[in-house]
Amino acid sequence: MQRSVRNIGHSGAAATAISAIDCALWNVKARLLDIPLVGLLGLVRDRVPLYGSGGFTTYTDDTMRSQLSHWVYEDGCRWVKIKVGSDPARDPHRVHVAREAIGEDAGLFVDANGALDFKQALNLAQLLAEDRVTWFEEPVSSDDLIGLASLRNALPACMKLAVGEYSYTPDDFPMLLTSKAVDILQADVTRFGGITGFLRVAALCDAFHRPLSAHYAPAMHLHVACAAPRLRHQEWFHDHVRIEQMLFNGVPQAVDGCIVPDLSRPGRGLDFRYADAQRYAI
Ligand SMILES: [Mg+2]
Repeated sequence: MQRSVRNIGHSGAAATAISAIDCALWNVKARLLDIPLVGLLGLVRDRVPLYGSGGFTTYTDDTMRSQLSHWVYEDGCRWVKIKVGSDPARDPHRVHVAREAIGEDAGLFVDANGALDFKQALNLAQLLAEDRVTWFEEPVSSDDLIGLASLRNALPACMKLAVGEYSYTPDDFPMLLTSKAVDILQADVTRFGGITGFLRVAALCDAFHRPLSAHYAPAMHLHVACAAPRLRHQEWFHDHVRIEQMLFNGVPQAVDGCIVPDLSRPGRGLDFRYADAQRYAI
């Protein structure tokens, strides 16, 4: 598949299409063998810790408070993440609201989606350290390896730099690691080569002694996340959790801050609800 897209490029739509096929083939193989997907991959943990992810910049303070406190106090998440960067002047206030909503013990992450320049990002990091933000995701563009590497050295010691969601090709992750541009790698089965790609990134994390975090789509990642030795957590992303629950039976539920694969079901354990999806057909 990789060879067949050489002329149109390996990134973007081609990478997501290849990822979808790879995920489907692993699922079919497990279903034909009548075993759970993780049975093919090798179980190293029986549950996957979650971090609640949302806190969109369009939210009011009250909406964000209610979302974040639900994840921590109802779902048991040990960490939450909010978006920053669209209005950097307002971000210290929003982060302070988030810290108050989740209490002193939960971890607090921020994600700028590459919206800032180097000096903006450094300034914001220093301000957010007061509320003990421990993860700064894509402070500058993920294409700016020099900026990421410089920022990683300049961030407060309590704050890790997370990157990887826009890594689509087999060279992207080694480039991030050898450029010393990342503390925690994020990988996404729907973008970087499916289950096969995720296993490759997990092996790279082992080789470089770096933690791995699964990005988006928790139901798609659950089994391979149970097979990745250095996996730290799975993103419990607001929109994807909602969509998965709308369209599939068998999706994982957050219990005590974790999701657990149902080992009694073959494959990924999901059933697509065709009737519920029909209204979205185009
Ligand atoms: Mg992100």
